[in-house]
Amino acid sequence: MTRPFVVLKFGGTSVAAPEGWRTIAAATRAHLDAGRRPVVVCSALAGVSDALDGLLPAAVGGRHAPVLDDLRRRHAELAAALGVEVDLSDVFEPLERLALGVSLTGEFTHRMRARAMATGELAATRLGAAHLQALGLPITWIDARDCLTTVEAGDTPAHALAARCDDHADAALAARLAAHDAILTQGFVARDPQGRTALLGRGGSDTSAALFAARLGAARCEIWTDVPGVYTTNPRDVPQARLLRRLDYDEAQELATAGAKVLHPRCLAPVRRHRIPLEVRCTVHPDLPGTVVGALEDGPAEVKAIAARRNVTLVSMDTLGMWQQVGFLAQVFGAFARHGVSVDLVSTSESNVTASFDPAAGAVDDATVAALLADLNQVCRARALRDCAAISLVGRQIRATLHRLGPALALFEDRRIHLVSQAASDLNLTFVVDAAEADRLVGRLHALLFDGREADDRLGPTWRETFAAPQAAATPAAPWWVAERARLLAVEASPAYVYHGPTVDAAAARLLALRHVDRVFYAIKANDHPALLRRLVAAGLGLECVSPGELDHVFAACPALTPDRVLFTPNFAPRAEYAAALARGVHVTVDNLHPLVRWPEVFAGHDIFLRLDPGQGRGHHAKVRTAGRRSKFGVAPEELGAVADAAAAAGARVVGLHAHAGSGIREAGAWAETAVFLADAATRFPDVRVLDLGGGLGVREKPGQAALDLAAVDDALGPVRRAHPSLAFWMEPGRYLVAEAGVLLARVQQIKAKGDKTYIGVDAGMHTLLRPALYGAWHGIVNLSRLDAPLAVTADVVGPICETGDVLGHARRLPRTEEGDRLLVATAGAYGRTMASGYNRRGAPAEVVLD
Ligand code: ASP
Ligand code: MG
Repeated sequence: MTRPFVVLKFGGTSVAAPEGWRTIAAATRAHLDAGRRPVVVCSALAGVSDALDGLLPAAVGGRHAPVLDDLRRRHAELAAALGVEVDLSDVFEPLERLALGVSLTGEFTHRMRARAMATGELAATRLGAAHLQALGLPITWIDARDCLTTVEAGDTPAHALAARCDDHADAALAARLAAHDAILTQGFVARDPQGRTALLGRGGSDTSAALFAARLGAARCEIWTDVPGVYTTNPRDVPQARLLRRLDYDEAQELATAGAKVLHPRCLAPVRRHRIPLEVRCTVHPDLPGTVVGALEDGPAEVKAIAARRNVTLVSMDTLGMWQQVGFLAQVFGAFARHGVSVDLVSTSESNVTASFDPAAGAVDDATVAALLADLNQVCRARALRDCAAISLVGRQIRATLHRLGPALALFEDRRIHLVSQAASDLNLTFVVDAAEADRLVGRLHALLFDGREADDRLGPTWRETFAAPQAAATPAAPWWVAERARLLAVEASPAYVYHGPTVDAAAARLLALRHVDRVFYAIKANDHPALLRRLVAAGLGLECVSPGELDHVFAACPALTPDRVLFTPNFAPRAEYAAALARGVHVTVDNLHPLVRWPEVFAGHDIFLRLDPGQGRGHHAKVRTAGRRSKFGVAPEELGAVADAAAAAGARVVGLHAHAGSGIREAGAWAETAVFLADAATRFPDVRVLDLGGGLGVREKPGQAALDLAAVDDALGPVRRAHPSLAFWMEPGRYLVAEAGVLLARVQQIKAKGDKTYIGVDAGMHTLLRPALYGAWHGIVNLSRLDAPLAVTADVVGPICETGDVLGHARRLPRTEEGDRLLVATAGAYGRTMASGYNRRGAPAEVVLD
């Protein structure tokens, strides 16, 4: 008997890191050992498809060179990390010529865009094949375009960028591929019947895998991704989301269509048609069982999951009395078909037809929308409404669950619902609302429908339960930099901040594990390095910004970030900043009467948060206490009534209350006290749904200092939360997430003995790390070059700045230290680089992230 095919698909994050390739190699080997024939389908490295999508538009302006350089660099870095040398010039040179051509002619076609984007998958698989071969795996690299042909060769953007392929069994292909033991090929790419490169739509590698599985008659299709399965909702937004262990094809299809990100909506039809089981597995946790999608017997009527699709555009068509006319709907939908726009949801009434579509999924550009509207306006009055979100409750016999959904549906009462649709298949109930509402509604619906449900053979653990680091991990025996000493010493640049990604991840996991905190927003002023921001956003945190510059920075750094995951909490900011932030759709916090009283029109019709002063500050230093009479922050307790009146008079809805007592707080009950204070204040504000308890979680700095007991923080919050079930608790830590993950490396320049004192002068100073000078903050300092040497001298560690206050540490015990030694200043990940200055023109420190 011939060996059965099994298809494994690995997404962009899986192929971008060497650890991902470890899983790819192990999974491939396991299938080979079990007598199967693996076909490995890979995406482009994470972010590369986006970069390639931007290449030709950049080339029009002659700005393609940096994009190309960056692409070459990323692949070279991965090759180096995988220990392979691969000449990719046959991949990148045609791309460079394409970009050059576009820069000369100033224009490009959809076909050219398809060719450019296909490069990402081609390059990734070339590196991967070389690596797997070097590991001794019998893998053959195959061009997926020689295997998958699209059904039509048209010239709409959809034909070039989101094309379709047949999923019938293909004996010739199976015979051809059966000549190899194992195959590595690309997702996303195919050829049209004329032989031109075509793409299967963004995220289309899943579809490629399913098509390969269908055409080859594979025994199984595995989708390996960065989450361990399909969850009851997106666990990145709602960490209480539960793993769905088993799903029927139709439920999985419905969920994917409704916006659950794990599986591409087009990947289910091929496997379902051939009854091929599809497994969702997690590349970073290959041991977790994941979700199995197959043919399931009928289960009880229940909501299985909540999905949200952002980026939805609605077309609302007022029928001008044409409704009774035979053929009206045919005319309307004929226009959608002519412009290649695929409609997702429709609702009709006597005088209006509303239809939704997803411009990104269908590669529908603005020009197409304009042309469609022009056509539709011949037969009705049509307008487009952008930036909507479709929230779907998915499950079998959803109608039978309606009577139990009462409290959940009440949430929609005061929201503007643009469209409601209930699928004829009885698998989903969908509400289209403004995109800005989506996150909050999903979180609340999820809590109402799933919190407290027992696990069974279909419903697994929560995301938090699976990923929360045990509390014991909060007190590691030695800091991370002891184990990473060699990599740190290899950093040439000096002074340099070095950040340890896994330590940031661990801190994030600890906060996400808090049962009584619904959402965590990272205060980016602590450290705004783009790689750390992306890491935290990927882990499920939102971000907190205090200036327009920070807002611009986070949206540029994190393409996946939606405004609902961003808080804007400025202080004494000008009027225009509030107006701009509200227009952006982020959560805006007002912390004074002045804006509401003087500029009411800015806030009219908007939801806002208020920052209140709890009347008592806390923290490790007077300068970081951000509440109480002597602090400039927050609305004073006696002004509560006035601020409520001012908000009401302005026509603003106060939906959240916020207080932040200070930083470096170690009393576990502090946040519960803030919650009690805010919940009490909330009685004056009927629309308040969120209490933002601030941050300020203390970090261990000195040896022997106890870590803040997060479990105690959580326990203290429990009773407050149970007393106020309708309020969500948010937190916005900064320092806690990044402080321990960062160190400052400095090089010893000179040593001086003067009187009875010794000075060790390094190339970092108050211009690099201001905290000791500003707050008298204490940072541990060690001689990294002589970490194990006995402590022999007591010295002040000073910088090169012309200030007496330029001291990083007083009277520190260090080994005998020489010029050129590397000193490490610990716990410097927060308020280090972001507070560095150009004082004395000594230049900025370097920054390095270790994964
Ligand atoms: N690389 C393609 C994209 O980012 C396809 C995929 O990753 O599935 O859209
Ligand atoms: Mg995907």
